[in-house]
Amino acid sequence: MAYLQFLGAAGTVTGSKHLINTSGDLDGKQGLQVLIDCGLFQGRKEWRIRNWEDTPVPAREIDAVILTHAHLDHCGWIPRLVKEGFKGAIYATQPTIDLCSVILPDSGHLQEEEARFHNKKGTSKHKPALPLYTLQEAEDCLHLFQPLPFGKTMELGPEFSFRFVHAGHILGSAMVEVFLPQNASARKSLFTGDVGRVRMNAAPPGKVVRTGPDPDEDPDLLVMESTYGNREHPHEDVQPKLAQLISDTVHRGGSVVVPAFAVERTQKFLFLLKELMEAGRIPRVPVFVDSPMAIKAVQICVKYSCEFNDETCKLIQQYGSPLEWPGFHFAVKQEESKKINEVHYPCIIVSSSGMVTGGRILHHMLLRLPDPRNQVVFVGFQAPGTRGATIKSGAKSVRIFSEDVPIRAHVDALEQFSDHADTTELLTWLKTFKKRPQTTFLVHGEPDAASRLQQAISSNLGWNVKIAEWLEKVPLT
Ligand SMILES: [Zn+2]
Repeated sequence: MAYLQFLGAAGTVTGSKHLINTSGDLDGKQGLQVLIDCGLFQGRKEWRIRNWEDTPVPAREIDAVILTHAHLDHCGWIPRLVKEGFKGAIYATQPTIDLCSVILPDSGHLQEEEARFHNKKGTSKHKPALPLYTLQEAEDCLHLFQPLPFGKTMELGPEFSFRFVHAGHILGSAMVEVFLPQNASARKSLFTGDVGRVRMNAAPPGKVVRTGPDPDEDPDLLVMESTYGNREHPHEDVQPKLAQLISDTVHRGGSVVVPAFAVERTQKFLFLLKELMEAGRIPRVPVFVDSPMAIKAVQICVKYSCEFNDETCKLIQQYGSPLEWPGFHFAVKQEESKKINEVHYPCIIVSSSGMVTGGRILHHMLLRLPDPRNQVVFVGFQAPGTRGATIKSGAKSVRIFSEDVPIRAHVDALEQFSDHADTTELLTWLKTFKKRPQTTFLVHGEPDAASRLQQAISSNLGWNVKIAEWLEKVPLT
């Protein structure tokens, strides 16, 4: 009997990995085993250690990976899966593949740096500390990716076909419709990946992808994310608040530090800064984009400018590539990054990782957090257990490079930038469904968010909603 098993993003927001096994629990390999997403666990240690565990079925027996989008919590475990023996195809949209080609090697690079740091400081109980995978191993897995356009059905065997539909979350992001034709009652399953902002009436302020989640779905089984299942995004325009924060910081003689996911989120933020500067709403201070991927990331976003909404398209047409803008500096090499530390006049630093879990942002936080003139602005979700969540929570100090760093800088979070639908938006989208799924499983949410969303869907729509548990198997009958 075919089944679905939740290998990640169950009880937490990271590590998305859902296994469909069409052969059931029979001994030996008969049917197909397909992973929907292959994400990295991030945040609390209890989750991160699962990055080191093998998949319940051997990686070499998994036939294919279907990838919804290029965020690390959905794609960041792919190099490890390949290292464990996976040799199948990884299906994704072309923009997702382009994004992965810079994100995954960078992730490998960060893993290597972290291992190096632990070995130097002797801060790991493993001797030597090893990377989960290396930059080279991440590059080596890129040849397994195969592009699949939205809407085109791909058959992996007589018992399994799938297609991508729009998720409207980030560039290239898709939901996966899975069809199991031999199966009488669970013919169609929908895996949402991350659901973008829903704009049935007007575009919410954080929304910049042209196509929102496709309406009128009719799955028998729905597996949906629940990141913002207990929250509503603010509806007011983000620009006045951001302009105020930046202007106040500059007047204090401080700098603004923005932890942001290096690809896509950073570029959206740059266009916003440019717009505010051109309108004279913030001072023209230098902007440093500090990421080894900075230039490639800009090139990908400009290449796919038609994928963004009209407003963003217009900005790209009007201002061209951020690489050409005066006053905007892109630090690709490490020496260029180090030079930013010598900047003692007001500036804006945008660096990754977005949840302050690693990367160059750590150096900027180490240097700038203790100074009360400075300002940290979060523009993305901070998973519990990450340094980003600690800093955002109002803590007095945070541990960076084995040091307790005092937090005296101002800290604010602008939730409008979110690329996830909030509860009301999810309900709005679900109401477009042509029929009620037999079962809805909630994944990719902290326990409170998942349970609040479960209640909201049950009481508003009367659907049968369950919260997925880690390693739980669901028969697809
Ligand atoms: Zn995502």
